Amino acid sequence: MATVYYEKDADPSRLEGKRIGVMGYGSQGHAHALNLRDNGVDVVVGLHAGSSSRARAEAAGLSVALPEEVAKASDVIMVLVPDTVQRGLYESAIEPHLDSSKTLMFAHGFNIHFKEITPPADVDVSMIAPKAPGHRMREVFTQGSGVPALVAIHQDASGEALPNALAYGAGVGSMRAGIVQTTFKEETETDLFGEQSVLCGGTAALVKAGFETLVEAGYQPEIAYFEVLHELKLIVDLMYEGGLKYMRYSVSDTAEFGDYTRGPVIVDDHVRAAMKQVLAQIQDGTFAREWIAENHEGGHRFKRLREQDAGHQIEEVGAQLREMMSFLKQH
Ligand code: NAD
Ligand code: MG
Repeated sequence: MATVYYEKDADPSRLEGKRIGVMGYGSQGHAHALNLRDNGVDVVVGLHAGSSSRARAEAAGLSVALPEEVAKASDVIMVLVPDTVQRGLYESAIEPHLDSSKTLMFAHGFNIHFKEITPPADVDVSMIAPKAPGHRMREVFTQGSGVPALVAIHQDASGEALPNALAYGAGVGSMRAGIVQTTFKEETETDLFGEQSVLCGGTAALVKAGFETLVEAGYQPEIAYFEVLHELKLIVDLMYEGGLKYMRYSVSDTAEFGDYTRGPVIVDDHVRAAMKQVLAQIQDGTFAREWIAENHEGGHRFKRLREQDAGHQIEEVGAQLREMMSFLKQH
């Protein structure tokens, strides 16, 4: 079983007298900065001069400075800009100011694990990765609890990297829930695998294939949309609340029997073999090299793929149907 740390395992006083520099003020950045600040921690947010996030951070009462100033003045530097721009920010603004007194932190292991960023050996390098989007993390914190997180240590130069990382975890509220120990390698590889094979890639492909199957068989696209996309949320919510068992308890016996007998026909040995292949390409660095090269080359293929899928019939039908659902936020 995994090692899990709870409130009693953290010493938040380790952050006293320390300045925490949070780079970026997006999904994760705003939640980390605000939660730390509300816990009495000295926080400064690092943003470029022209950043559109600057006004929001200042309006929230946070102090904001340029990334290089923040790197220079902070004891702990938490990197919360998008993974694709972390290397550039690290080389231009962080690396010149690193020394053995500082800790470099991440919320995802991609750049460290795939060696896009190689910090000096005398710097502590750790991860606190909250298992929730930033807005959820902030909301749960303001309600008095916290979201679970992962902790990992890449370099322990000081010998105190773990207790220091756990103190940071307490600062952002995750100790109220619990923090699970992992490694940069495990977090990075499982995160990529999850989003590619199940969460984003697998689910989107499954939904499209189900929609196309029904529409090609002559059913109305509007009905197909409800059956394979809209209702997915209801099912996922049940799984989130109480696992597969609770979902099966809540659906009809007919649905449950179809689940046991037809599910494995869809996700068969071919799909499992493909999952192993996707995992192997994550583990051997093939996916990381492809994605890094794509960004170096201007992201043209990525943009083309995005446009291609945005024009899928399910998106057009969905946009019309969602206008009927006044309870949904407009996107
Ligand atoms: P994000 O896309 O929300 O934005 C990050 C912020 O970085 C922006 O708001 C901006 O302030 C700044 N920024 C954007 N482009 C920049 C550029 N070119 N140069 C400098 N700064 C720039 O990012 P995020 O989703 O919060 O992700 C930050 C880190 O947290 C990543 O490592 C990500 O993997 C990790 N993470 C994200 C989530 C999540 O739910 N979003 C969850 C766990 C971990
Ligand atoms: Mg993830």
